Amino acid sequence: MANLELPVPPGYTITCQTCMEYANAGNVWPAGALDEIWGYTEDLENRMGKRIGDADDPLLVSVRSGAPFSMPGMMDTVLNLGLNDKSINGLIRSTQNERFAWDSYRRFIQMFSNVVMGIDGDLFEDAITAQKAKKGVKDDTDLDAGDLQELVATFKEIFSKNVSAKGYPDLVVDGKVEFPQDPKKQLQYAIEAVFGSWNNPRATLYRQKNKIDDNLGTAVNVQCMVFGNKGNLSATGVAFTRNPANGDKEFYGDYLVNAQGEDVVAGIRNTSPIVNLKNEDGLREPGEQLEKIFGILENHFRDMCDIEFTIEEGKLWMLQTRVGKRTATAALHIAIEMEKEGLIDKKEAVRRVEPEQLDQLLHPQFATDAKYDTLAKGLNASPGAAVGKAVFSAEDAVEAKKKGVKTVLVRWETTPDDLAGMLAAEGILTSHGGKTSHAAVIARGMGAPCVCGVDVLQIDAAKKQAVVAGTDVVIKEGDMISLDGTTGDVVYGAVELQDAEITGDLETLLTWADSLSRMKVRANADNPHDAQVARDFGATGIGLCRTEHMFLGDRKQIIQNYILSEDEAEMQKALKQLRDAQSGDFYEMFKVMNELPVIVRFLDPPLHEFLENGRDLAVEIATMEAKGESKERVTRYKAFLEKVDSFAEQNPMLGMRGCRLGIMFPELTKMQARAIGTATAKLIKEGFKPKPEIMIPLVSVVDELSYMRQIVEETLAKVEEDYDVKLDIPIGTMIELPRAAVTADEIAKKADFFSFGTNDLTQTTFGYSRDDVESEFVPKYLAKKLLPRNPFATVDRGVAKLVNMGVELGHKGNPRIECGVCGEHGGDPESVHTFDSIGLDYVSCSPFRVPLARLAAAQANLENE
Ligand code: PEP
Ligand code: MG
Repeated sequence: MANLELPVPPGYTITCQTCMEYANAGNVWPAGALDEIWGYTEDLENRMGKRIGDADDPLLVSVRSGAPFSMPGMMDTVLNLGLNDKSINGLIRSTQNERFAWDSYRRFIQMFSNVVMGIDGDLFEDAITAQKAKKGVKDDTDLDAGDLQELVATFKEIFSKNVSAKGYPDLVVDGKVEFPQDPKKQLQYAIEAVFGSWNNPRATLYRQKNKIDDNLGTAVNVQCMVFGNKGNLSATGVAFTRNPANGDKEFYGDYLVNAQGEDVVAGIRNTSPIVNLKNEDGLREPGEQLEKIFGILENHFRDMCDIEFTIEEGKLWMLQTRVGKRTATAALHIAIEMEKEGLIDKKEAVRRVEPEQLDQLLHPQFATDAKYDTLAKGLNASPGAAVGKAVFSAEDAVEAKKKGVKTVLVRWETTPDDLAGMLAAEGILTSHGGKTSHAAVIARGMGAPCVCGVDVLQIDAAKKQAVVAGTDVVIKEGDMISLDGTTGDVVYGAVELQDAEITGDLETLLTWADSLSRMKVRANADNPHDAQVARDFGATGIGLCRTEHMFLGDRKQIIQNYILSEDEAEMQKALKQLRDAQSGDFYEMFKVMNELPVIVRFLDPPLHEFLENGRDLAVEIATMEAKGESKERVTRYKAFLEKVDSFAEQNPMLGMRGCRLGIMFPELTKMQARAIGTATAKLIKEGFKPKPEIMIPLVSVVDELSYMRQIVEETLAKVEEDYDVKLDIPIGTMIELPRAAVTADEIAKKADFFSFGTNDLTQTTFGYSRDDVESEFVPKYLAKKLLPRNPFATVDRGVAKLVNMGVELGHKGNPRIECGVCGEHGGDPESVHTFDSIGLDYVSCSPFRVPLARLAAAQANLENE
């Protein structure tokens, strides 16, 4: 902003690298860094013609964090630095405003104590409350200079009592810890605290959720203080150049007259909308100048910006700007509008929207025909609907989530310490704070529905309840409540939800994305409904239909009949039932996906998964015996248990599954091939254009594929004969075992396509059991940084190398081979980038991730092009 010649308070910046060097050395300053800082401080003093700590006319500074990516409210700031028992007199003299000076000093001690020394903030708030009670007044603003001077003395006592002499020997004066009077010491401590806040738990959690690199560090800005609390010609505010909730082109934000920055974000006082600023008495000029600056910043950054500003006695100062956080709805709208305005081109618009964010748009909303009474209305701070049990603390939200209970977090206003609870809750409801309050900003950033500033809520967090003024409703912990972050409605009880509809903006952007991508996106779907959703979301086919998912529920019994059949007749009967059921499934799927490819994967799981649990069965038999049930029944159960036991394996995920199953039970393979063949033949006869493909899972040697292929081809030839149709059904395989990847040239000779099963490929490359590791050591490995990411969520480098090798060798064996991926990684934007650079033809992911993958595929192509 200084380079744009905007009015920025002078200052200097300590780099992120210094922060990381300091942290990596175990909180030790790099050689010479402190001297350099003192040099810049002196330079700043010379520029301003004032000295920090001066007894006549002191310079005060702010020490602010400045991370490379926006992390609102996560790190620390110290304001009013430089005040001490001498310079307070200078401030009184130079401002002729005794109340303001004492207020600044008490704010500084309070902030320094809390932020730098970690003293409980409530101790200071309680002291303010006690002072107000003593004086018999209600608001902080009713305290006069004398009261604030008394508070300064009380705050210093709190400081002395709560800082250990052992921990801070340099603060001990005459055997007692004293609030530091030396401005250099104040400054050094404050900078160290801001550095340290990079690694505080909430900032670490925020980075983890937003995939921000832990090694970036934060810069620290040391800047001259400007004051928004110098009277009615002073003000402070936070604003966005466009509406960050829905993307509309309007000024958006809040301000307060006669206040300091934290008063706005902390929601302590009721703020006014930014558009009113220029109508305040005496503030027309800075208000209009601010609006002009919004335009200058947007043109410069070619993006929506957030802004912090202060007006000191009629003069506008810009404190901070950066590209603003926004909801997915806003991100889409802003990108499309800016393309129309000529600020950015289509490629840039596509780059602008984070794929992960699109998930938000698919959040449920209140059903259009739902009937409900609105209990209260607040600010529609972050869109989407949430239904859950009311909880009144972040800890309770986290605990409930562990038990699988959905909650709405109800708070007076959230603080950065509430982050874990905000992540755990379905939605956030606050009684205070405007649209730029902490709750609103954070909720928008993470895509959680949020209604804030519902002032009729009288929350008693200790009692875990909220009285709703003007009604006889008391919301108690555990009561169901619903909120709609798009309208600001709060409802007592659970409102019915419906899936979100894709808006025009999403369709526009995804159409642009498709025109800019190379890779296609298919979906993993096992039933006609999911297939329809996938098609509606723009999937270009089904990349994986897991047929074992078609045998859940009632169908399990048919499979059991097959496994347990005693003679040929029983077995044939079960097989026919299976074939009929499958044929019906495939018929519907192929019809929904008419003209688009549908890859049907043959049965994959270990056979015993279709049987009862052996241990449960043994308990049941023991109970039957104890109850003296008929011998015949007990004998039958024992025979059943014997069969179940015969299928038990030590490592079922590495046992008789995938093609091994189809080879051991060729009847199953024939049954599935026939079901696919007949469904296709019927549809062709009805005039449809079904495009099934058959996929053999868990192949490790080419002969397994040849064996299965022969059965499938013979079966399909029989169907062609029976139905008198020509079937053109490609047969391919999954590459999900390291041996398959490294011998892909051999396997490709027998395959029309490859689909990389990166779930199993990750499992077998690492030797981690995929069902067990995620809850056990992987989270601990991540915490210890032994793994950069969960390899089951984002494809690992080593696994990607195998995929790359599989693709290259595959093309050697069969130059026309089509290659895709159908593991979970197909819906992970970072992995989509990797797959694009490897040159895969498509990724396949769950239907709800299709829009996200389409966008990620375009961004990957733009980057890899
Ligand atoms: C895979 O292993 O990546 C895969 C898609 O198959 P499944 O998850 O069904 O084993
Ligand atoms: Mg697999």
